[in-house]
Amino acid sequence: MSASSAPRVTRIAPSPTGDPHVGTAYIGLFNYTLAHQSGGKFILRIEDTDRGRYVASSEQRIFDMMAWLGLTPDESPLQGGPNGPYRQSERFGLYGDYARQLVESGHAYYAFETPEELAARRETAQQEGHVIAIPSRDLAPADAKKRVEAGEAAVIRLKVPRDGETVVNDRLRDPIHFANKEIDDKVLLKADGYPTYHLANVVDDRLMGVTHVVRAEEWITSTPIHALLYRAFGWPEPVFAHMPLLRNADKSKISKRKNPTSVEWYQQQGYLPEAMLNFLATMGWTHPEGQEIFSLAEFQRVFKLEDVTLGGPVFSQEKLRWYNGKYLREVLSDEEVARRLHDFLAQQKTDLPNDDYFRAVTRLMTPRIEVFSEFMDKTGYFWSENYLVDEKAQKAIDAGQELLPQLAARLKTLPEFGADSIKQLFHDYAGEKGLKLGKVMPPVRAAVAGTMESPDLPDLLATLGQERVVARLNKAVQ
Ligand code: GLU
Repeated sequence: MSASSAPRVTRIAPSPTGDPHVGTAYIGLFNYTLAHQSGGKFILRIEDTDRGRYVASSEQRIFDMMAWLGLTPDESPLQGGPNGPYRQSERFGLYGDYARQLVESGHAYYAFETPEELAARRETAQQEGHVIAIPSRDLAPADAKKRVEAGEAAVIRLKVPRDGETVVNDRLRDPIHFANKEIDDKVLLKADGYPTYHLANVVDDRLMGVTHVVRAEEWITSTPIHALLYRAFGWPEPVFAHMPLLRNADKSKISKRKNPTSVEWYQQQGYLPEAMLNFLATMGWTHPEGQEIFSLAEFQRVFKLEDVTLGGPVFSQEKLRWYNGKYLREVLSDEEVARRLHDFLAQQKTDLPNDDYFRAVTRLMTPRIEVFSEFMDKTGYFWSENYLVDEKAQKAIDAGQELLPQLAARLKTLPEFGADSIKQLFHDYAGEKGLKLGKVMPPVRAAVAGTMESPDLPDLLATLGQERVVARLNKAVQ
């Protein structure tokens, strides 16, 4: 349990607009951990106010991603909870009153500018290098209210102070100063009564009791608006912490073009969720004892928000593969790897029985793959007698026409078909014939696998089993 005391309430608030993103998983991991290490709660809220960008399947895929990673929220549209509903589209009714409350207290105002007028004003503002001026800001509040009551369309805008600055506290940075004259009077409530991101986000964080807002760096520029809202409502501000953005190798913001960004892609490639989590935990943070491989529970034990560093962490495919290989070989048991691989293959519609043979092949091949998707490509010859024989292997077979039948005969009568006795048999044969092992083994390898890229030969033969090996060697002799 971490040093600090009170239970933290954290959240992620993804918008369902596309593929479930690795950035959401990354931010989810840190929020899940912060909440759970304090005995608090981790909430998943769906921010679907932007109906233009809404993708129906996206929400379910976010839930699936979190479940796959083992970052199940304590409250969400799926789980429910005391602060629901957890979809902003189901909360539309409640935001208007909050916006009007700010109008009443003088922190916001009704604005009547038409889109055309705003476009023109925006252009001028850009040319002259200041924020857009909204004439409605200077209307007498009573007059504005009358116009609204008479049915005129209006948005509600935040009334950002004209001078001074808004200081944002961020747990990972020195206080950030924003000059108020550079902050737009953002729309809080649209003319149709829909809230914007800023209003809905702050109201929901407040109503859901969120104590820590931990999100990606790209939201820093929204934070002065949020801070002004908290202050206008007279609510205590949560702790803000903006995590460094994940980067491509060239340090640009992570993008589909340079890195697969959908967690589903990693799932389909057969990455392990534990490896993904471990890797994501190292984005912006390092284990205090320099440990590279650690579980979620261990992360929860040692993680401190203050230890996050801001240098842009690179989402390196290579490093993620390395983690995955480590988990396959050093963390999960052989049994577990076989079980997961079997499930993975079943999902890919490759039906192999999870029997002793399958487990033996898995054990043999685990050192030779980093992710499950490589397994079938490298193991075709274990499952079928119609495996391809490549050119190099064919040459080796041709060169071994004399010794292959002799070795087949000897292997056929070997009483115990284990790797050690097979190895001994090769040594004996090579000794008797005065041949180097490097002459004896390649034709056998080529004949049983059709490729020279295969595991240690005695192990390979022992795994294939006596019957298959002898039949393949005989078949290789024309
Ligand atoms: N809806 C925002 C998003 O899509 C939430 C940002 C935040 O965490 O405040 O990420």
